[in-house]
Parts: sequence; C-alpha cells; structure tokens
Amino acid sequence: MRNKRVIESPKQRQNRHKAMECAAVLEKLRNDFDIRLESMSYFYDLCEKVYLKREPIYPKSVKVGTMCLQVPSEIIYALDAVPIRLCNGFHTDDEIGSDFATSKACPLVKATIGEFSSGNFSDKPDVVVSPTTCDQKAKSGAIIESLGYEVFDMEFPRTKESEEAREYWRRSVRRFTKDLAKFQNKKLRRGKLKEAIKKVGYAQHLYHQLNELRKGENPPINGNDMFLLTNAFFFDELESWTRAVEKVLDEAKNRDIKTPKHSVRIVYTGSPPVFPNLKIPLIIEQSDGLIVADETCSSNRMFNDMVSVDEWFLYDMVDSVADRYLKGCTCPIFTKNSDRIRRIIELVKSHKAEGVVYQAFAGCQVYEMEQRSVLEAMEKEGIPILYLESDYSPSHLGQLTTRIEAFIESLKNRRRKR
Ligand code: SF4
Ligand code: SF4
Repeated sequence: MRNKRVIESPKQRQNRHKAMECAAVLEKLRNDFDIRLESMSYFYDLCEKVYLKREPIYPKSVKVGTMCLQVPSEIIYALDAVPIRLCNGFHTDDEIGSDFATSKACPLVKATIGEFSSGNFSDKPDVVVSPTTCDQKAKSGAIIESLGYEVFDMEFPRTKESEEAREYWRRSVRRFTKDLAKFQNKKLRRGKLKEAIKKVGYAQHLYHQLNELRKGENPPINGNDMFLLTNAFFFDELESWTRAVEKVLDEAKNRDIKTPKHSVRIVYTGSPPVFPNLKIPLIIEQSDGLIVADETCSSNRMFNDMVSVDEWFLYDMVDSVADRYLKGCTCPIFTKNSDRIRRIIELVKSHKAEGVVYQAFAGCQVYEMEQRSVLEAMEKEGIPILYLESDYSPSHLGQLTTRIEAFIESLKNRRRKR
C-alpha cells in the first residue's frame, strides 16, 4: 500500500519546526542535569502547552504585547488587560523575520517580527507597545505596524541620571496609561493599580527568595531552569506563575540537593536568553559550569527593583511605577551604564562566582560595544570573563562549546592553584 503524502501549509511547517525546537530544549532540561526539582514540571508542561500544543493561556482577555521589559505591566494589569512580552527565542521565527530586516540584525528582534509576519501566536496580542529603547526595537515597531497591527510607541530616554530624563520617562508612562485606558475604554482606578503593584511586587519577592538560595554552597536550581521559570513570566497568568514559583521555592528550601562539587560558578550577562534559545546557558551547564546568577533582561533584571510608593494617590503611583522601570534598567542602550558593571560585580561577590560569561547577539551593537568597558572593569577586579558572540542558528555549536569548555577548565585550574 502506498503511503499517503501529507502536504503541509507554510504555517503548519513553521509550527512543526517551532515544536521541534521547543521539544529538543525541554528534553535536555528534563534529562541532562543532576539538579532536578519536581516542581519545575509546571514550567516544562507550560512550554509544551504553549509551543507544542499551541493552546492559548488567555482565550478571553485583552492582550497587550510588550516589545521590551520597559513596558510597565502594573499599568496593564490595572486596566484589566494582560501583558505578553514579545521577545522571541525561536530560530524558525528568526529566519522568517530575516525577510523584513537585514540578515545582520539582532536575532531576537528578527524573531519577534517573524512571529508577527506568520501570525503564529498561541495568544495573539490585541495591541502592541513598543518602547524606543534600542534602535532595532524602535524600528521593528514600525514594521509590525505595517503588517496590520496596532502599535503604541513609548518614548524612552537614552540617559537615566538626569532629572530631565526622569521627567521625560514619567511623561511617557503617563501618556501610555492614557492611551491604554482609551483603548480599553476604562478609567485607571487607584485600588486596581495598588493591587497590581502588590501582585507584581509579590512575584518579585518570590524571585528574590529563590535567588537568595543560589548564593549557598549547593544552589538548589540550575541556571537553565531559572531562565525557563523567568521566561514563563513573559506570558503566564500572574497568579498561576506565583503559585508555581511558591512550589519551586518550597521544594528548593526543603530538599537536600548536592551540587556536583567541581561545578564552576558562573554569572551570566549580555543579550537576553529567551526560550528555546538557551544555547549558551545549556553549553555552560553541560560543560560543568553552574549559572548561579545572571544580569539579563529576560531574568534577573525583570525582578530587580520594586516599585517604591510614598503616597498611594493615583498619579503618585503611576510616577513611582515609571521610576522603577527607569532606575532598574541596565540595558546598554544608555550613554553611560556604570550601574550594569556595578551589578555584575555585586552578583559575582554575593553568589561567590568564579567567572562571568558575556553573550552578545550578533547584530546587537550596544551589547557588542559595551563589552569593552565591562571587560576592563572585570579585569580590574580580577574576575575572569569570557566574551561570546552568538545567534539563534544551530551552527558554530562546536566552536562555542570548545571556547566555553576551555574557559571552565581555566577556572578550575585557577581554583586548584588557590
Ligand atoms: S535587551 Fe534592552 S532593549 Fe532589548 S528587550 Fe532587553 S531591555 Fe529591551
Ligand atoms: S539584544 Fe541588543 S539589539 Fe537585541 S533587543 Fe537587546 S539591545 Fe536590542
């Protein structure tokens, strides 16, 4: 009997490729590591639900797609919508997006555009918010608009120290609040904003508690699981996410986990790893490194600074939310970025790390350009650092692995000499 030939549509083919990318990474996370928390199953299953089965999380809610970490989720929740961060880690989408941007553009930005052009969303955003953070993000907002989506621009300053920058950003957040309220045909209410600040603050608090445990001799969670858990915050329903992290925290506190003694402790910084592009973090932890902390906008930076409110009046709260996002940002889009260097050094010390891995996406000029000042600062502090350029393609894996293995071996030698 002859086999029936199934003809796939381009959309089906893209979905199959994305499902394969997702399954390959989940397989590694589930099986390749000694540190294994049962409670992480929630996050593995969640990724399967969204990327393999393509089931929506919010079939009924209004979804606000955010192009960057800088869009305040507290305001979105307070206006009865849900934020979905659109930073995308799929190589399949990166290839589709290459038709709209130069092939040398940042893969994360191309992948985001690729997802819009194919429309392959499990939760399709109703409106998109595009802050003018890096140049490529700013330009991609216009491309997405040209594909037929509604896009709000959100002006973002390129300095953060001055009073002018602070006021400029506050005005931008106030305007965004008005635009979204108009879109939703709702008024921002004091009680709702207060509740949203508290809920997001509680999620941050849980993250901090988990991060604290990574400072100890036996970190109970590896860096790849940590990236998966924080990446899920991009799109998961807030209450479900916090409940799942409470369980991870509970297990992490109460289980006797022994980290392999020889594993080298690493702080990870640079262009954000977004599932399933965990290429570099996976190589590090498959080469006997252990990521004990990170300084990236897909993980640590999302939870770092809490909203600090002096007066619980509506407009004071909106300004306090704005301040949290500007002050906490250490993205290299700023003219000067000494906060980022300070934070990396603090993380190395607090988490007793032995070295730093700095990844820049090929095509990301700001991360590429900032490596020099970070490398100099680390050298001054006597902190070994490895700089890598990578993208979403599966090529160069051998070369990257060799460099990472050599770096980890050099850190082990350093430890022996001590
Ligand atoms: S790297 Fe910078 S511009 Fe890009 S998403 Fe992160 S914070 Fe935004
Ligand atoms: S990695 Fe670079 S180019 Fe890509 S979003 Fe971040 S800052 Fe922009």
